[in-house]
Amino acid sequence: MKNKVALITGASSGIGKATAQLFAKEGARVIVADINQEQGLLVVEEIKNNHSNAECIKLDVSNELDWKNAIQETKRNYGQLNVLVNNAGISIAKPITEITLEDWRRLMSINLDGTFLGTKYAIELMKETEGGSIINVASASGLVGSPLASAYCASKGGVRLFTKAIALECAKMQHPIRVNSVYPAAVETPIWEQSDWWPDFVKQMGSNESAWQALSQASPLGRIAAASEIANGILFLASDKSSYMTGSELVIDGGFTAQ
Ligand code: NAD
Repeated sequence: MKNKVALITGASSGIGKATAQLFAKEGARVIVADINQEQGLLVVEEIKNNHSNAECIKLDVSNELDWKNAIQETKRNYGQLNVLVNNAGISIAKPITEITLEDWRRLMSINLDGTFLGTKYAIELMKETEGGSIINVASASGLVGSPLASAYCASKGGVRLFTKAIALECAKMQHPIRVNSVYPAAVETPIWEQSDWWPDFVKQMGSNESAWQALSQASPLGRIAAASEIANGILFLASDKSSYMTGSELVIDGGFTAQ
């Protein structure tokens, strides 16, 4: 990753944060892009304390103007962009009869529009320079259905085929851009406890601890993943070690979708 410029969305927390830390450790110049700039600045501080390179930009992935500005700033500061990780995402869990159109659109605007916009604007800069690698963080819920998660599953299933279509579009470019996707099942990050459905899930399970245990029990490996275990897969797809991979699905789910 030495000297590669990598922009990671949703890098203030969870999988994005672990990826930013790992990329920086591997020598990348990391752009921590998140709607939560306060947290992002803390991630950058940690990375700099470890003598690696990072900066933070405020980016709402659903906002087209934010993306134009982010890519322009990347061009101005570094002259290139080698890696984009479309990682920012939210989850909503509601029965189909209760989910509102507003809920649906909010989720799609982040999980799907965000991935579309990031890919569109990053490719413009990547193709001017040396090509690059785009990694879209989907989910096991983009491969198999999950009750109460219709919007989330639809968004991640959309990310899956969007990835493949763009991979084909970019494969024959003068400087090829590889586009791949990653499929985690449950990962230990704040997305769970911050979701508005978590309190009901805890009530149903009896306690916070039992709720986490239920997630672990759903995994064939008997535990949920650490964010760093997903970051390792993202690093592989970002690096030249995966130079013959494009349009692929890297499933990092502890065997969840093998069931
Ligand atoms: P997280 O909540 O820890 O982090 C998500 C980050 O995205 C936060 O920093 C948040 O501020 C940011 N974000 C939210 N909306 C944004 C927006 N509009 N613009 C920019 N940033 C925004 O969650 P996580 O678990 O690390 O999730 C990262 C990705 O992994 C998501 O796409 C999620 O769907 C996917 N994923 C997570 C799990 C899991 O179990 N944690 C499983 C499968 C897939």
